[in-house]
Amino acid sequence: MIMILFGPPGCGKGTQASLIAKNKNYIHLSTGDMLREAVKNKTETGIKAASIMEQGKLVSDDVVINIIKERIEEKDCEHGVILDGFPRTLSQAKELDNMLLENNMNVDLVIEFAVNDEILLSRIEGRFSCSECGSGYNDDTKMPLKEGICDECGSSNFIRRKDDNRETASKRLESYNRETLPLLPYYKDKEILFSINGLANIEKVTNKIMSLI
Ligand code: AMP
Repeated sequence: MIMILFGPPGCGKGTQASLIAKNKNYIHLSTGDMLREAVKNKTETGIKAASIMEQGKLVSDDVVINIIKERIEEKDCEHGVILDGFPRTLSQAKELDNMLLENNMNVDLVIEFAVNDEILLSRIEGRFSCSECGSGYNDDTKMPLKEGICDECGSSNFIRRKDDNRETASKRLESYNRETLPLLPYYKDKEILFSINGLANIEKVTNKIMSLI
């Protein structure tokens, strides 16, 4: 199973990708997470990507395609992959199809999260995560059960993404609307595109995705 969770920043696709991956034993591949890891480790890719990411712009197609290609061909991806934040341009989508074809695979399912831009911006501003295990939280909708302690791993260290401020988030939304939304007809034509209400509560969205799988 190769599925793509498709939607603007803050729509909840990262949260859903990690829930579904756990449940179905799929591998969750987020190009944003992979790039942030590269930035943290100061790799060549990370150094190049850091300032682009801080400006809310898209990293070049070549860079993200290479990161995905290296990872998706690993053995543990054979059972199932959830792509989160990739592809984001038509050339990434076409390149993904080519790399899958080389391995006799194809994209099976694309799920679009339908949401509203203003709600997205406040969601983005409120979000933070555990710096140890990556579990996601939000000031408005999902605080840790015990204040200051991660529900999953008990750590008390939390981080906020540098690009999760209103100004950069608005730029990320603009780039989504300009460069990524035009991808939808590509998947619609293949008849593998389904749209869901991304504003429903987390459990409802998960159930909907599970039924589509
Ligand atoms: P995300 O965590 O998906 O919101 O991604 C954070 C940032 O990483 C984006 O604003 C881009 O700068 C970069 N990025 C992530 N995925 C891609 C992609 N598929 N193509 C280009 N840039 C990306």
